[in-house]
Amino acid sequence: MQSRIVGTARTSELRKPHVVVVGGGFGGLQAVSKLRRAPVEVTLVDRRNFHLFQPLTYQVATGALSPGEIAYPLRAIFKRDGNVRVLLAEVSGFDLDARELHLRPVSPVPAPERLGYDTLIVSGGSNYSYFGHEEWQMYAAEVKSLESALAVRSRLLAAFEAAEAEPNTDLRGAWLTFVVVGAGPTGVEMAGQIAELARDTLRRDFRTIDPRRARILLVEAADRILTGFPPPLSTKAERSLQRLGVTVLTGRTVIGIDAAGVTLDSRDGGPERIASRAVVWAAGVTASSLAGRLAELTGAERDRAGRVTVESDLTLPGHPEVFAIGDMVRVRNVNGEPVVLPGVAPVAMQQGRYAAKVIRSRLRGREHGAFRYRDKGNLATIGRAAAVADVKGFRLSGFLAWATWLVVHLWYLIGFENRLLVLIRWSFSFVTHGRGARLITGASTTSEGGHG
Ligand SMILES: Cc1cc2nc3c(=O)[nH]c(=O)nc-3n(C[C@H](O)[C@H](O)[C@H](O)COP(=O)(O)OP(=O)(O)OC[C@H]3O[C@@H](n4cnc5c(N)ncnc54)[C@H](O)[C@@H]3O)c2cc1C
Repeated sequence: MQSRIVGTARTSELRKPHVVVVGGGFGGLQAVSKLRRAPVEVTLVDRRNFHLFQPLTYQVATGALSPGEIAYPLRAIFKRDGNVRVLLAEVSGFDLDARELHLRPVSPVPAPERLGYDTLIVSGGSNYSYFGHEEWQMYAAEVKSLESALAVRSRLLAAFEAAEAEPNTDLRGAWLTFVVVGAGPTGVEMAGQIAELARDTLRRDFRTIDPRRARILLVEAADRILTGFPPPLSTKAERSLQRLGVTVLTGRTVIGIDAAGVTLDSRDGGPERIASRAVVWAAGVTASSLAGRLAELTGAERDRAGRVTVESDLTLPGHPEVFAIGDMVRVRNVNGEPVVLPGVAPVAMQQGRYAAKVIRSRLRGREHGAFRYRDKGNLATIGRAAAVADVKGFRLSGFLAWATWLVVHLWYLIGFENRLLVLIRWSFSFVTHGRGARLITGASTTSEGGHG
């Protein structure tokens, strides 16, 4: 049977060049946005039909926001752009010589088996890495996707319910012990939110347990939290967490996770067992598998986190028509040395805009300089009116940093409706200390509702 191919690879004089963008995350979205008025046909391929604002998934995981408020349908974003087509499909491989992508359908939606391009931009992002212990994932969910954030939300809320129903004191203690692994911005934000959930939102909801007695542990292998920030801000963030009731364990490595808890090693002591039924994973990341495929096909180097090394114009060696951007790449600087940029949205967004600009320049027959990242700073929130910010050398903490964090996140959230909804939600929660989305979903019952 002949395979179906959509979009031919060769540009005829009659046809506009076809740019295919893989990934409707931060990088891909910016690339497509900057090409919407260019003389090209754009196809955006994603295995999801929505853009996810990952910086706020932890708020879904703790019931502060609902999924629809941080995700936006890709078709709706580009509905007015006649030269942009959205294709729901998974990219499974590349034929760089034929200039074609291999696609897999996202059930039950059929997809063409191949898609031709003239220029390709790949922004497949990254996944959490369990450092070779994939079995830990079953007990320590992460909050990168909407599905996993909802699973974490159910797990956290179910732990309080289970503690309320548990007569055994030790088991009740295990249900009320929450462990967050990894103290980067996501881990810090998660730990702070769980503490607020326990000490504030849920404090009057139960009759047997006192949620304020929950233990929240934040485990970090490095000797301080938020290692991407200057040490004085790490210290301030740690103090804020302690005020919220979070126990910060730095210099401690997780060596085991199972259904009953977490085992920690330490630099100076022996293994320590912590009984816990609710563990959240916020440690290391690994690049999308698309990075590995591109590296194999082009001979480009990969680093330990699986990122493919792109040239200083973000293209792959020997393939000026293929750009790779965002979390899945490291970039050669003008001296040819590979540089790992922070795995944050502004890097992917700037790279997406840059790739689009290069494509536009080429159409005009112009050259374009190397990619340069403009670091606008670092932000992390800890809880209600508490955050740290390192913006171009200005170090902020407390309310001012928190207000900056709010404005930045509202500004970058996609969709006016979502911005308005999130603003209303945050204002309401600030005044009432509530969290409207405290739902346990996907829970199973042992009976199917029969009358046995
Ligand atoms: C929990 C969390 C919190 C974060 N907080 C912050 C923060 O506060 N500030 C900040 O700046 N950054 C934050 N980040 C990092 C930021 O989200 C990433 O740096 C950014 O999303 C990278 O953009 P990207 O385009 O490379 O990938 P992504 O935004 O991850 O997009 C990748 C896209 O590719 C699609 N895709 C992947 N593989 C395929 C395939 N085979 N076929 C089809 N589609 C595919 C995915 O569905 C996705 O839509 C956070 C990340 C996480 C996980």
